[in-house]
Amino acid sequence: MSNMSRRNFILTLGASASAALLAGCNTSKNSSTSSDTVSTDVVDPGGYTLVEDGKLTVAAELGFAPFEYMDETTGEPVGFDVDLIKAVAEKLGLEASYLPNQKFDTLVPLVKQGGKCDVAIAGITITDERREEVDFSDPYLDSNQAIVVKKDSGETEESLNAAGKKVACQSGTTGDEWITENLADAERVPLDDVTAALTGVSTGLYDAMVIDLPVASWMLTKSFSDLEVAKEIPTGEQYGIAVSKENVGLAVAISSALQSMETDGTMKKIKTEWFGSEI
Ligand code: GLN
Repeated sequence: MSNMSRRNFILTLGASASAALLAGCNTSKNSSTSSDTVSTDVVDPGGYTLVEDGKLTVAAELGFAPFEYMDETTGEPVGFDVDLIKAVAEKLGLEASYLPNQKFDTLVPLVKQGGKCDVAIAGITITDERREEVDFSDPYLDSNQAIVVKKDSGETEESLNAAGKKVACQSGTTGDEWITENLADAERVPLDDVTAALTGVSTGLYDAMVIDLPVASWMLTKSFSDLEVAKEIPTGEQYGIAVSKENVGLAVAISSALQSMETDGTMKKIKTEWFGSEI
C-alpha cells in the first residue's frame, strides 16, 4: 500500500459533533479577556469571551503538515486545521487570527492561562490529562501513530526497544508518551521541530521517529522519500480544538459550528481538499 492510500485508509472520518444540548444561540459575546471571567460553574454556556473583539485568536505549532504549516510564498499559515478553524470562525461571525508560531508543548498551558489566545488547534489529541487542563470541542478527525525509520534499515518496534537506539519525537506529544511507554529501553529524544526530527532520522542521527501517521505520510511523500513507516500504531486518537475551561460557551459554540459544517458539507469539502476523495 502506498503512503498516500495508507493515509487515506487511516484517516477515517472523525466522530461528528453532538453539541445539540447547548447549541444554537451563541452569538452573544463580549470582548472582555478571560481574566474577567468567573469560575466555570457560573459561566453562561450561551456566551463566551474573546481575547480580541470580532476575532478568534488561534495558537498553533506551525510545523505539522498537512494540518498547519507556513506557506513559504505568502508567509501565512495553511493546512487542514487552518481551513477548518477559518470555517469555524466564519460560522461564529468572527475572523480567525493566528498568533506567531508556538511550541507544541506550550499550547495547552497557553490556552489554560488565558488572555493570549481563544483556541489552540494543531492536531491536538484529546487526552484525559489534557482534559484536566483545558476543554475540547467535539472531535473533528481520527488519527494514529507511526514509527518512521530509514528505508531498508530493517528497524522494527522490537529492534528499536534497545539500549543505544535513539527515537525522536515532538516534545509533549502523544508520540512522545508512546515512546516512554513502549520503547523504555531506547533513548527518547524530544525535539520542538518535526522536520528536524525527520532530518535526523534521514541523516542517521536518530534511528526512528514516532509521529502522527497522517503527518508521517505527508512528510514522507513530499520531502523524505528515503524514509518509510515501519509500523502503524493503532492508538485510536481523536483531534479536538482546545479552549479554556473558563470559556465553556466557546467550546460549545465551536462544537455547534463543527456540527453545522458536517451537515452543510463544509467539513467534507475541506477533508477532500487535503486528504482526497476517499476520506
Ligand atoms: N496528535 C499529537 C498530540 O496531540 C501530535 C500533535 C502535534 O505534534 N501537533 O500530541
